[in-house]
Amino acid sequence: MCSALRTSPLPTACSPPAQRRFHTREFHSPGDLASLPQSVLINCTGYGARQLWSDESIVPVRSQIAWLTPQPEINYGIYFGDLIVLGRREGIVVQPSPGGENFGWNDDNEEPDFAAAEQGVRDVAAIYRRPPRP
Ligand SMILES: Cc1cc2nc3c(=O)[nH]c(=O)nc-3n(C[C@H](O)[C@H](O)[C@H](O)COP(=O)(O)OP(=O)(O)OC[C@H]3O[C@@H](n4cnc5c(N)ncnc54)[C@H](O)[C@@H]3O)c2cc1C
Repeated sequence: MCSALRTSPLPTACSPPAQRRFHTREFHSPGDLASLPQSVLINCTGYGARQLWSDESIVPVRSQIAWLTPQPEINYGIYFGDLIVLGRREGIVVQPSPGGENFGWNDDNEEPDFAAAEQGVRDVAAIYRRPPRP
């Protein structure tokens, strides 16, 4: 399932860097946590908590994201119609979200939809082709 949960022998924020130890482990059921020697565990497994804790309150929200190559000068984002564009250090996120950010609510299909992603890129291009307002 998910990649990793890191465990640390001391609360990371309190311990000097030299004393911090990171261990990568995967937990398949809550019972796996009993094997940990730590007396305090912080559960921050994100979407993985749905499976690990059978927590149905954690709902997937699926959408398609296309990434354009990074452009350091793009230090802004755009919300336009149903499109989100966000300049980040690692690339430019292009995310079509028809009907808003809850598009894909409860859809756990992780298959990439290249047509939807490419359409998002075409929509960005169309925004920049628009003539400026007088
Ligand atoms: C492409 C993208 C862009 C985003 N951009 C933004 C943004 O600009 N701003 C913003 O505020 N939010 C953004 N988000 C959302 C943000 O990333 C999440 O809200 C945030 O990461 C959630 O943090 P978390 O610590 O709760 O969970 P996560 O970051 O998901 O961390 C959970 C960790 O637990 C591990 N784990 C889960 N289950 C297990 C298990 N059984 N055993 C071991 N390890 C397990 C996972 O591998 C993961 O490392 C973005 C998300 C995506 C996907």
